[in-house]
Amino acid sequence: MQQGLQGHKARKRFGQNFLHDVHWIGRIAKAVAAHPGDSIIEIGPGQAALTRELIAGAGHVRAVEIDRDLAAWLKEQFAAEELTLIEADALTLDWKSLAEQAGTLRIVGNLPYNISSPLLFALMRAADHVRDQHFMLQREVVDRMVAAPGGKTYGRLSVMLQWRYRMVKLFDVPPGAFNPPPKVVSSVVRMTPKDPSQVPAVDFDLFSSVVANAFSQRRKTLRNALSVLMNADDIAAADVDPQARAETLDLEAFVRLARKAAELGVKPIIPGSVVD
Ligand code: SAM
Repeated sequence: MQQGLQGHKARKRFGQNFLHDVHWIGRIAKAVAAHPGDSIIEIGPGQAALTRELIAGAGHVRAVEIDRDLAAWLKEQFAAEELTLIEADALTLDWKSLAEQAGTLRIVGNLPYNISSPLLFALMRAADHVRDQHFMLQREVVDRMVAAPGGKTYGRLSVMLQWRYRMVKLFDVPPGAFNPPPKVVSSVVRMTPKDPSQVPAVDFDLFSSVVANAFSQRRKTLRNALSVLMNADDIAAADVDPQARAETLDLEAFVRLARKAAELGVKPIIPGSVVD
């Protein structure tokens, strides 16, 4: 059992499920393997379950916490040489400038589940400055992140993240490891940005637009789902079957569609309701 802030009531709106089981805290810390000199930044340190381990490995950690009470408590727990506490919303943080100050980042977080997709997308824009990311998320989200084409779990999150990162699901963590326990099983995922030479060159906004539209209504054929961007002949010219459904396409096929859209001078359009 880990000691936290006495009397702190977990705040649902901040997705607070605190790790308290030393076995699982140790396993996550081992997976991260923080070393002296690593520029570690933790998202949502909470009651410092992981933070302590990360400081033990790296000597110093930066952490972004939105909850003011926890931020104040965290500042009292650690010396300034050990912890730089950034009291902010990780969603709106300027990750690029942070990396410019801090050097290539290793990002770690038992993430608040309610913001996991927008946060993953926000971090993508700083991927050039990141060495790796270790996150605990709902298992269902991790399964979607690492999914291969052909199944129901494969969607926008899979394609967009696999374009930029290599991802490995490491292990599951049961609800009992947290206080309060979440309703679902969690998983730890390692995300390593691909070398820029390995990232298929594409206009990012058009690529996002093609992927979002393709998956906006999964049962539609591409010909219908992409009709706001291109017609069936354009899809076929990108060497993709206009009758196919998005979930059957691999990353390269989406890249070819986005390149075709660029060639046609299409403007990126994101559908009203985006499905991950
Ligand atoms: N790392 C701790 C642990 O493993 O026990 C806490 C994990 S808890 C699931 C999520 C943490 O993220 C909480 O401390 C919460 O206050 C913080 N948080 C929630 N939304 C945030 C945001 N937008 N930016 C930064 N921190 C946030």
